[in-house]
Amino acid sequence: MKPLVACALAVAACAPAEDGTATDAGTGDARADAPPGCTRPALEQPWLRPLLTGTIAQLASTPRSTTTQREAARTYLSQQLQMIGWTPQLHAYPGGANVVTTVPATVMPPANTIIVGAHFDSVAASPGANDNASGTAVVLAVARYLAETPCRTAPVRVVFFDQEEVGLFGARAYAAIVDPATVRAVHTIDQVSWDGDSDGRFELELPTPELETEWRAAAAIVGVTVATTSTSGTDHEAFRDRGFAAVGLTEEYVGGDTSPHRHLAGDTPATVDNDYLTLAAKLTAQVVIEEAAP
Ligand SMILES: [Zn+2]
Repeated sequence: MKPLVACALAVAACAPAEDGTATDAGTGDARADAPPGCTRPALEQPWLRPLLTGTIAQLASTPRSTTTQREAARTYLSQQLQMIGWTPQLHAYPGGANVVTTVPATVMPPANTIIVGAHFDSVAASPGANDNASGTAVVLAVARYLAETPCRTAPVRVVFFDQEEVGLFGARAYAAIVDPATVRAVHTIDQVSWDGDSDGRFELELPTPELETEWRAAAAIVGVTVATTSTSGTDHEAFRDRGFAAVGLTEEYVGGDTSPHRHLAGDTPATVDNDYLTLAAKLTAQVVIEEAAP
């Protein structure tokens, strides 16, 4: 395996939040003890829903299973990161490649790294809008929020994992090249756009106590509820197996309010619940901003 030389730090200038508009509860303002200029972006953003729906429409225009299909998805995601201002890199391993970018800390020395990721591949028979263009779109949105977070105490590694559907290959390859002692938390997002009963409830898979506390605090700010489960079998498992503090976010998979189209041809953008998806993005962004911003 080719070791990944420390993912290059993006040097793109990080503009302060545009004109400091701040409307959302719990965000949009600097903490009282934050240095001057260290604003946080409001969770409510005009770009959020178009980013999420546009990403899903593009990714789920085809399945992402073959070598060619996955390569096209990697190219698209790399372009999206560049448009946001971050520098994408490929982490290639035998059989596949993850797309990675590091949003650098703005202070020295930085705190331990935060990893947030989602798998971009799908099974061959499905366009995978919910599984998992939805999680991919949420993680891309987090990258965008971070571009509007001018002060960052910790680097955030944004990772789009390859080949989850055939055995967590991308996540396992990536977890193998990172030292858990340098990482505060790993958050992976998988299937977050089905809410048949519209109760705005999510599941946290196998959180550590500290991570559960963080996600519950964020859920209170965003106005959603969370339940913990012991579901494994997706990307966070690859990290937990190697000693990382990891957690997964998903729709009510155990609770039964989960997409009936999983791994089927019907998992299309038409079945995505955009309101719920938007809540998933705000929830994840709130957790990561709280971890990364002063
Ligand atoms: Zn999945």
